[in-house]
Amino acid sequence: MFQAPPSELSLGGPPRPVIDADLIRKYGGHGPRYTSYPTADRFVEAFDAAAYRHWLQNRKVGGLSRSLGLYVHLPFCGTLCYYCGCNKIITKDHGKSATYLKYLEREARLTTASLGGDRTIRQMHWGGGTPTFLSDEELTGLTRMLRSEFDFAEQGECAIEVDPRTVTPDRVALLAQLGFNRISVGVQDVDLQVQRAVHRIQSIDQTEAIVRAAKEHGFLSVNIDLIYGLPKQTPEGFARTLAIVAAMNPDRIALYSYAHLPTLFKPQRRIAEADLPAPQTKLQLLTTAIEHLESEGYVYIGMDHFARPGDDLAVAQRRGLLTRNFQGYSSGGNADILGLGVSAISSVGPIYAQNAKTLEEYYGRLDHETLPVQRGLELTSDDLVRRAVIQALACHFEVPKEAISSAHLIDFDRYFAVELDELRGMEKESLVELEEEWITVTPRGRLLVRAVCMVFDRYLRAQRRSALYSRLI
Ligand code: SF4
Repeated sequence: MFQAPPSELSLGGPPRPVIDADLIRKYGGHGPRYTSYPTADRFVEAFDAAAYRHWLQNRKVGGLSRSLGLYVHLPFCGTLCYYCGCNKIITKDHGKSATYLKYLEREARLTTASLGGDRTIRQMHWGGGTPTFLSDEELTGLTRMLRSEFDFAEQGECAIEVDPRTVTPDRVALLAQLGFNRISVGVQDVDLQVQRAVHRIQSIDQTEAIVRAAKEHGFLSVNIDLIYGLPKQTPEGFARTLAIVAAMNPDRIALYSYAHLPTLFKPQRRIAEADLPAPQTKLQLLTTAIEHLESEGYVYIGMDHFARPGDDLAVAQRRGLLTRNFQGYSSGGNADILGLGVSAISSVGPIYAQNAKTLEEYYGRLDHETLPVQRGLELTSDDLVRRAVIQALACHFEVPKEAISSAHLIDFDRYFAVELDELRGMEKESLVELEEEWITVTPRGRLLVRAVCMVFDRYLRAQRRSALYSRLI
């Protein structure tokens, strides 16, 4: 009988997701990606800078020892990608970033002044926008400023999102010198027709050169972002994109579903709806992608993410240490994240705080020497238990009922009687298995784990109830 060698056994990972077209049609609609719970649309303005400062000052009270991470939002982009739903500022004026960096420094100072005790950063992520919109001098200056305000752990994770159209292999070398050891490369699709339709022309050579340079300069993890469901995409074309991208051998691939919401995201109005793939084709694109990535040896981590079995994310998942935060999945464990920059979100203990979303407001608050928080949320005990359940589902596809009960002082079955009832419907469709001690998402439910999480989202439930009332009236 064939027996896998120990090295293969230890890289086993969770069972592969099963693609069930009917279930995807039924449960695969829009829904939160649960980078936080409650989701950011639940934040309130009653949570202000004073509340955030209070939590920064008392971060360690009660012996809690969550490690510390930084998220730095760099919002500028040189051109507009039509599918974009990020908080960004399109400009050709590089002078704007110089002003922005001065304000970032002011914010970092105000933050560290409020931060009680230890300020050692174990994970850092620069996102945007396009962080590499900054010049080499600006990238260097920003790193220096952060290193003077915070202490950085030796083996910490330092990640940056790059747009290959703004980076050369030399700039990748600079990023490595500055201490970055994780890189995320935006691609979406290599097909020229698709690139034209979304206004993002980027050659395969450009992407390849960046990935190669990152590997040569010792980056520990290289991620490539892809999107399916974009205008002009076809299963054949996307299969070619996948083959080209897999040949570059990134450690991780993020495969996002394009959500066409032009009323919410203005740039999407420039996309011709007639060019969008029909729902059946979109499903085919997803199927093609999953089959291809699996055949290339990638493991499905969850919610849009794939990784090589030896990548940190896959290892953290196998060890039960995977977490989810505003930057997606993280192998860095549960950490408090300090968000710096316009619209950045911080997560400290039981609170979330989001900075002002426009430059004017962000600068205005900092001009008054105030932390630029515009809104946030202090989680209730109910929010905390639901956050724990949703994290467990999103990261590990299972919920240990007993552990949640004792950590949150609840009787799980009684507390979640309504949710369990709803899950029984999903159990009949083989999406989940309900046992006395565990809720487990089956391989058939893995691609739809977001829908299982939604069952535990109290705010969505209330929204559905009020929609029902208004329909009835
Ligand atoms: S997708 Fe990225 S590069 Fe394109 S506009 Fe949005 S933030 Fe900028």
